[in-house]
Amino acid sequence: MSLRTKFMLALLLTGLAAVAMVGGLAYVGMTKKVDLIRREQAAEHFYTAVSGYLRTYGSWQAATAVEPFDNYMRRYQDLRGDRRPSPGDAGPDGERGPGRGPRPEPEAEGPPDADARLPQAPPPGQAPPVGRRPPPPRGNGEPPFHFILADQDFRVLLGAGVYRHGEVLPEAARKDARPVEANGRVVAYVSPEGVITPSKQELQYLQAMREALLAGVTGAAALALVLGVLLSRGMSRKLSHLTAAVRAMHGGSLLQRVPVEGRDEVATLASAFNDMSEKLARTHEELHASHQTILAQAEQMRELSVRDALTKLHNRRHFDERATTLFSHAVRHKQPFTMVIGDIDFFKKINDQFSHATGDAVLRHVGEILRSHMRLSDLVARYGGEEFVIALPETELPQAAALCDKLRHMIESFPWHEVHPELKVTMSMGVYADLAAGTAEAMLQKADALLYRAKQTGRNRVCFG
Ligand code: GH3
Ligand code: MG
Ligand code: MG
Repeated sequence: MSLRTKFMLALLLTGLAAVAMVGGLAYVGMTKKVDLIRREQAAEHFYTAVSGYLRTYGSWQAATAVEPFDNYMRRYQDLRGDRRPSPGDAGPDGERGPGRGPRPEPEAEGPPDADARLPQAPPPGQAPPVGRRPPPPRGNGEPPFHFILADQDFRVLLGAGVYRHGEVLPEAARKDARPVEANGRVVAYVSPEGVITPSKQELQYLQAMREALLAGVTGAAALALVLGVLLSRGMSRKLSHLTAAVRAMHGGSLLQRVPVEGRDEVATLASAFNDMSEKLARTHEELHASHQTILAQAEQMRELSVRDALTKLHNRRHFDERATTLFSHAVRHKQPFTMVIGDIDFFKKINDQFSHATGDAVLRHVGEILRSHMRLSDLVARYGGEEFVIALPETELPQAAALCDKLRHMIESFPWHEVHPELKVTMSMGVYADLAAGTAEAMLQKADALLYRAKQTGRNRVCFG
């Protein structure tokens, strides 16, 4: 799941949870509050009615003998224009016999409007109005809200279908009982019982609340979605810059720059990323330069290790290694291969007669003559002192002998007088080309023997075999 989707989901869920929590709490709180107010109102009405009833007739026995309490309550409610809660819910045990009674007294403690409209007792000889039948219980199966009425000794007068008439009210039911006074003494107790079931109007009110809550949730979800889309688009765009830059770095382009927008954490990350990328690229460049220097120095060292310092030709160690390889190659491919060794004649005398520096100059010039007449595949080296060696791959003995004679001639005819007016330099050479010698070293020994012969037979000459 992409970060963008997660962000959108988080916003959506947070929005929904917040609205559901706040809406749910408000709904429950309001429902409870409404229920409490209705209970209090119902209790107050009933209490006022009972007080009026008992004050009107003096006592319960006297009152019920004149007018059943149900009748009185209906008249009371008709006067108030209120049918809830119905005292007719008081239950089958309530006294219901018809009767007459004196004019009811106003309820001193009740609300003024209720007191003013307390029902009057019917005139003597006239039956009290026949009350309407109590409304049927509400259709949700729950018991209605009603009141238990007990006398001053907690003997049930109206049991509301819960207690029988005359039964003593249990202790548990007495704690909510409210005393009713008449003529300065407690004549009865009123205790609420059951639950208030909502009326149709109240159900409509609760339904409207639920619908408002649902609309709120829907609105919050839509808002969260829009916000999620907008915020996550911005966020994912910034992050995609970073992702692309990291990929490019991984691909080798270390110097990357991403746009730094705003001052949030992503902007801090982008800024830090730019710094890091710059430092990394700079360090990498320095490292690369240092690596190149090391490589160049290593190459120089390697060159120095295989070169002779004076003549810049290869040295003996390198010659031996390479000559062995060339020899093996020639044997394997059955190709001709020639080894040459040359030695400057009377070099000691040159040193002695002209100076060691002149001797060095002679060595450098001879080395240059040899180097400049070699093919790339040939190998020439200063073997030590005034001795030079040459390995000639793919070269038959006659060509090698001819080349060496040419070299000998070039050395002899070099303008040595430019180095020193009286200087003359010659070289003797031995040339050997038979692979049957077995090794490059053995071939060189054979060439050295031929060089010795050249020295013996007058110097400045090439002997081969
Ligand atoms: P031959 O004709 O028999 O080869 O006689 P030669 O004098 O050339 O031979 P010898 O071996 O007697 O002398 C070689 C001399 O080369 C001895 C040494 O002082 C000199 N020599 C060796 N290396 C160098 C060097 O690097 N520079 C100089 N100037 N002289 C060197
Ligand atoms: Mg020598
Ligand atoms: Mg010599």
